[in-house]
Amino acid sequence: MTAKQILVVEDERPIREMIAFGLKRAGFEVREAGDCRAARAALANQRPDLVLIDWMLPDHSGLELTRALKRERDTRDLPVIILTARVEEADKIAGLDGGADDYMTKPFSPRELIARVNAVLRRGGSVDETETVRFEQLLLDRAAHRVLVGERAVSLGPTEYRLLEFFMMHPERVYSREQLLDRVWGGNVYVEERTIDVHIRRLRRSLEDYGYDRWVQTVRGAGYRFSARAVS
Ligand code: CA
Repeated sequence: MTAKQILVVEDERPIREMIAFGLKRAGFEVREAGDCRAARAALANQRPDLVLIDWMLPDHSGLELTRALKRERDTRDLPVIILTARVEEADKIAGLDGGADDYMTKPFSPRELIARVNAVLRRGGSVDETETVRFEQLLLDRAAHRVLVGERAVSLGPTEYRLLEFFMMHPERVYSREQLLDRVWGGNVYVEERTIDVHIRRLRRSLEDYGYDRWVQTVRGAGYRFSARAVS
């Protein structure tokens, strides 16, 4: 088995070296970058299995880099773990959601880091390898590109399918319209944010017969969320 490759993007050299050392000792192959530009160059050169990105970088923020990677077709499936210096930052990142697969607050032990890295890699490296997701009777069959409730196929347009797929793969999190545009439509397409509302309405209508339309929730002033939990 070839070693999994991790790209570490961190400008503070002692920290970067400490992380790299821990990863290497755990059997990973490590590449290092000191800023977003170097990270870009490294990514263009060879695709790693996972990227660790520090939140504070000299050129752009780690969050911006993560967002950019998650927006681009070639890198959107690349797992990202963001490193932050403070718990408040971690909260902020979680709220903003750059599409990172996980967050870690410094300081952390090499052991903790390895555990998180392995957990994210185990998820399939990319969530995209998951074939089916189920919430109660609602089943997303990604291989067949369809959604079922029991034996019945839910009739969905292509955009509604992609929206629902995204929601079911990322439940219990609020996404702004802008984020949905990035993640569902792809960053380079020009679509008005209002268009999303139209597709959300259509999606809800398709789920109405089964009573699952309530899972596609509007979060005032923030965006939308898919939640199969009871709405209070
Ligand atoms: Ca830093």
